[in-house]
Amino acid sequence: MQLTEFRNQALIDFSSEENRRAMESALVRVRGQLGMEYDLVIGDERVRCERKFESKNPSRPSEVVGVFQKATAALVQKAVAGAEAAFNTWSQRSAEERVALLLGLSKIMQERRLELAAWMVFEVGKSWTEADADVAEAIDFCEFYAREALRIGVPQELTPLDSEENYLYYVPLGVGLIIPPWNFPLAILTGMTTAAVVTGNTAIVKPSSDAPTIAAKLVEMVEQAGFPPGVVNFLTGSGSEVGDVLVSHPRVRFIAFTGSREVGLRINELAAKVPPGQVWIKRAILEMGGKDAIVVDTESNLDEAAAGVVASAFGFQGQKCSACSRAIVLEPVYDDFLHKLRQATEKLIKEGDVENGKVNFGPVINDRACESILEYIQTGQQEGRLITGGSRAPRDGYFIRPTIIADVDSKARIAQEEIFGPVLAVIKAKDYEEALQIANDTQYGLTGAVYTDNEDKLVEASRRFHVGNLYLNRKCTGALVGAHPFGGFNMSGTDSKAGGKDYLLLFTQAKVVSRKLRR
Ligand code: NAP
Repeated sequence: MQLTEFRNQALIDFSSEENRRAMESALVRVRGQLGMEYDLVIGDERVRCERKFESKNPSRPSEVVGVFQKATAALVQKAVAGAEAAFNTWSQRSAEERVALLLGLSKIMQERRLELAAWMVFEVGKSWTEADADVAEAIDFCEFYAREALRIGVPQELTPLDSEENYLYYVPLGVGLIIPPWNFPLAILTGMTTAAVVTGNTAIVKPSSDAPTIAAKLVEMVEQAGFPPGVVNFLTGSGSEVGDVLVSHPRVRFIAFTGSREVGLRINELAAKVPPGQVWIKRAILEMGGKDAIVVDTESNLDEAAAGVVASAFGFQGQKCSACSRAIVLEPVYDDFLHKLRQATEKLIKEGDVENGKVNFGPVINDRACESILEYIQTGQQEGRLITGGSRAPRDGYFIRPTIIADVDSKARIAQEEIFGPVLAVIKAKDYEEALQIANDTQYGLTGAVYTDNEDKLVEASRRFHVGNLYLNRKCTGALVGAHPFGGFNMSGTDSKAGGKDYLLLFTQAKVVSRKLRR
């Protein structure tokens, strides 16, 4: 099978009248489907449960996006057994066969691109552009991993010996548990799921309870693409109820998780325990939170830096693991930068209802997040000086104003803890050396950026700024599949580098076959 070289999907330009109208009609179509009930998918069975839960629109919490089943422990057993049965045949299919199905999935996503984006506007409060970028990334994952699966799907050559023929094969692991966050509900879920299945594993998808509808759409498209029953199973329910049962199951071989530090560490601990009947060491691929910083140097274009910080801090309301939540600014330009930062926030951020294509700043995900962010803002006002924002916006949903708090000490709570909302702490550093030290002084190590025109300082940052994804003279969000393999250090996770050439190997084990040659 010959594929063209991988290229990222271009984003849709919503300033074009035609695209704008197309998105508006996608929103109307999706609105007509809100409130539907979705089943569990276990093998070829559709299952309903007695207990249900609802996914709500964060812009209008009274609006139900979908109704979902609360899976029971008995259904977990059934799903694992089904996925294990499917593994026996799916793992024996050739890489080409699996890749052909994955490319089919990519095609369906391309055809349904605006509809999928519209679901994210309703379910997680993404602006049009953010929602479209999420779908584009999901398509990129399909296309990139399809190519990678072909690359690693052939016998790998080893050092030649005269007396033997030796090859290394990457073989699948078994049944995998896929646990995504709600904030990139299609992209991250698609990335983890397709990586698992294109390498020959089978998967149980346990979506976030804040974004199960998008996940149901993925499972629907997987079926439409022709993946056999049991390869991707769909089990909804609260993480705290079904999560532990799934993670501890002796027949689950690996877990691919993206989410908070707290849940990631719990999964890591549970996965390390060996229950009776388990004959392997479970693999845990864990991508977790961030406390990402942008350093603004004296020798930099402050307007560009301010625009980069605003985009990184307030894109999708600051609810990205890569979001800038600390701006570390050198003393000589501190006041000037703060002024520009405030101006840039007022100019670039358009708050409001994300169903409106002109808006680029919507609600936070739910009432719990809203309360927690407001508490951090209160703490922040004791730890620093409020520059802008600091309150809820007067709307029905979970709207919080973009908030900047200056003069924050680098050890303060809002400078150390992941807030996961539109709150930026601005910290003063006396020189570049201190700025780098402050940048590294958290338990996380996901993304970071530096704005400076000084080559030596850029080199210094490349060497010493300890994060998985470092950006120079650009914003610290918006990693692209293939170009920016993504994953972090320390408490940000196991640095799996999603969208990179090493990623699929995490879903395989290497088997070497050595054959003695007869002479
Ligand atoms: P979360 O609260 O940790 O939830 C993540 C997933 O884990 C959800 O599907 C959740 O299901 C499930 N879960 C909860 N408790 C569980 C348990 N005991 N066992 C198994 N699964 C369980 O995180 P989130 O709020 O969805 O996402 C935000 C976090 O993700 C932030 O910390 C962000 O930085 C991080 N993130 C990291 C990356 C990265 O690449 N490093 C990317 C995106 C997001 P329920 O919803 O049902 O509880």
